[in-house]
Amino acid sequence: MKTEVLKTGEGNDELILKKASDIIKDGGLVAFPTETVYGLGANAYDAEACLNIFRAKGRPADNPLIVHIASFEDAEKIAYTNELYYKLAKKFMPGPLTVILPKKEVIPYSVTAGLDSVAVRCPVNPVAHKLIEYSGVPIAAPSANRSGRPSPTTAKYVFDDMDGIIPLIIDGGECDIGVESTVVKITDDSVTMLRPGAVTCEMLLSVCKNVTVADAVINELKDGEKPLSPGMKYKHYAPKANLFLVNDKKIDFISLALEKQRSENCAIMCFDEEIPRLENKNLLPVGKKDDIREQTRRLFILLRRADELKVDTVYAHLPSVEDKSLAMYNRMIRACAHHVLGGV
Ligand code: AMP
Ligand code: MG
Repeated sequence: MKTEVLKTGEGNDELILKKASDIIKDGGLVAFPTETVYGLGANAYDAEACLNIFRAKGRPADNPLIVHIASFEDAEKIAYTNELYYKLAKKFMPGPLTVILPKKEVIPYSVTAGLDSVAVRCPVNPVAHKLIEYSGVPIAAPSANRSGRPSPTTAKYVFDDMDGIIPLIIDGGECDIGVESTVVKITDDSVTMLRPGAVTCEMLLSVCKNVTVADAVINELKDGEKPLSPGMKYKHYAPKANLFLVNDKKIDFISLALEKQRSENCAIMCFDEEIPRLENKNLLPVGKKDDIREQTRRLFILLRRADELKVDTVYAHLPSVEDKSLAMYNRMIRACAHHVLGGV
């Protein structure tokens, strides 16, 4: 199959979106930009089209998809909502929040991987929004990477994984946020965070009384332990090189990085301020030390760039486990399969 890449913002958006929505209506797959990462979308009512998402990604059959809707009220069509859903939706939708709700019959089990709940999200990115609107159906879409790889935050990285597998990639430039949405589950007036993202615990606490972070967000699952969200059990976001995180409260990062630069074919993910102190070889600057937002935004791009450099190892700072860097901590700790030099 030939994979077409069409760029938005150059006067052809209506044509591109028409073409893309026709593919979705016909049961095909389209990769599209969102504010978080690129999604790989299909008609969420079409069981067979959604199975093709799993095939295209090589995604394990028990890892459910997120269903994207054009306005938060559209959740009514696919799920049983409640008061807290509307509180969360009014505050954070459209935006990078996914809410797990009991599913209605219209959503096939191939979308929810056999679960009776469905993940609902309303993206703010205008291209994503219009694609859902023009398609006239909710769009089931996981991240548009091959399973296990870092999520793509540019159309080029979607192309690297999906060339020849899907008919169309909409290129809407680099994603603003750069990591996937916050995923929450609602019980009564409490919220459990299953995956951290740009909507933080502190932000959620402005709407609901209790926010709990699921253990698997931070800690390794124990043997045989069943996670609250199936996606938590898979190694994820990993570059081909071995990633090691360095606890810089225990180990001097610069000394270690210099030693590795001399002895290994490695890349170093460093803060911008550290560049002059390191050898100018395979450096992957993540942003300023205090700029968590930028570090998070660049994370997946840099993990992919490490692969392009064909290095054997990558060394990076262990992020703090505090609320505002929790999304980055969660992705990095899993990308390195919990290999932390100096311990957590
Ligand atoms: P992705 O679309 O690749 O960002 O993955 C979607 C994430 O949402 C995965 O981690 C899934 O496990 C999680 N998810 C989707 N639907 C559900 C559900 N019904 N219950 C719990 N987690 C879900
Ligand atoms: Mg994913």
